[in-house]
Amino acid sequence: MRETTDILISGGGVAGLTAAAAFGAAGFRVTCVDPAPPVTGAEEDGADLRTTAFLQPARAVLEAAGLWERLAPHAAALKVMRIVDAGGEAPEPRIVKDFDAAEIGEEPFGWNFPNWLLRRETVARIAELPNVSFRPGVATARVLTRTDAALVTLSDGTTVSARLLVAADGRASPVREAAGIGVKNTRYGQKALAFAVTHPIPHDNVSTEIHRTGGPFTLVPLPDRDGRPCSAIVWMETGPEVLRLAALPVAEFEAEMLARSAGLFGPLTLVTRRSVWPIISQIADRFEAERIALLAEAAHVVPPIGAQGLNMSLADLACLVELAKAAPDRLGERAMLLAYHRRRWPEVKARVTGIDLLNRTSMLGARPLRDLRAGALNALYSLAPVRRTLMKAGLGMR
Ligand SMILES: Cc1cc2nc3c(=O)[nH]c(=O)nc-3n(C[C@H](O)[C@H](O)[C@H](O)COP(=O)(O)OP(=O)(O)OC[C@H]3O[C@@H](n4cnc5c(N)ncnc54)[C@H](O)[C@@H]3O)c2cc1C
Repeated sequence: MRETTDILISGGGVAGLTAAAAFGAAGFRVTCVDPAPPVTGAEEDGADLRTTAFLQPARAVLEAAGLWERLAPHAAALKVMRIVDAGGEAPEPRIVKDFDAAEIGEEPFGWNFPNWLLRRETVARIAELPNVSFRPGVATARVLTRTDAALVTLSDGTTVSARLLVAADGRASPVREAAGIGVKNTRYGQKALAFAVTHPIPHDNVSTEIHRTGGPFTLVPLPDRDGRPCSAIVWMETGPEVLRLAALPVAEFEAEMLARSAGLFGPLTLVTRRSVWPIISQIADRFEAERIALLAEAAHVVPPIGAQGLNMSLADLACLVELAKAAPDRLGERAMLLAYHRRRWPEVKARVTGIDLLNRTSMLGARPLRDLRAGALNALYSLAPVRRTLMKAGLGMR
């Protein structure tokens, strides 16, 4: 069977589904395929227990896609980002610095949502759009491109001719491979544990990043759970250490968490499973090929620091949608794709480099280097203009 569409999106992760809603809301005919059905409940097997903090600029993208109004009632606002250095002799806070969103405007830095909820709301939004077809259980199997279209064979035997093929099929993107686009990646020997906890001391909408060794331990506010303050945690450590922590009985794990959190929120109670994520940095050599645009982790992967990953992806998406709407007849043509690559690649490259540096700094084990890191945090923070510039840069504001 042969079908035609404007845009075929390979991959229905958070990025691919958001892209389907955004292009659909902009009036394009969209087909989105993914071999895995989206898991849309917190308790289901395979639920993505990570949360995503959408930073300020993401809101306009979500509004235009018709997603924001669905998500807003579930949002946990991030008003302050607290950086804590606990790199001294004992695991205690020795420097605490608050980056307050009120210093740069009226809005919070962003809003945090569980990933399973993002999937549930995005799938529901897509169902409202008659011009969008989402096909879970179907994969991209083969890709051929010509100057006027991408011809994609799906795993159910259907052939789709699309003016634009968007690769949102993750860090090992089969579409990127088929296009012959290489990547540069960096491995850190690190993994992340992601889970949620409740705690007696409220988070007051403060996101807290605690640095000692091995990588950051980050608490991001979630709405209360069973009447108790609740946070999502991403705990980065060396690979073997993460596997050891993931296998610990709950009581022992909670004791280790309490120590690593420097006791800042009181005893932490684990309320979800623990999921393990490999940590790498990666950037594709190009973000485009004939009739193909790479989006999100197919284009770039960063360690989860400063909530940059999916936020970069939404900036990719905003750029693609803007170019598509500016010249709908030239969707997927070489000039459009080159403009996309030129706008996004240098910006993404700079962020990947910056986050790589932050991650290496956070991993430091040797005491004198940890002291140097604490000194640098103090110095950067004490200069108000530098502090404000850092906050704006973190948000992707100009
Ligand atoms: C612990 C952790 C915490 C994070 N926290 C944040 C945060 O707070 N803020 C933030 O901005 N980012 C965060 N990130 C990053 C963010 O989660 C990722 O950027 C995002 O989930 C990746 O989305 P994606 O859709 O590109 O990839 P994926 O979620 O990997 O989706 C790719 C999809 O492609 C599908 N696929 C594979 N093969 C095919 C095929 N042949 N055909 C069709 N489909 C295919 C897969 O089934 C999958 O569903 C975090 C990451 C981690 C690890």
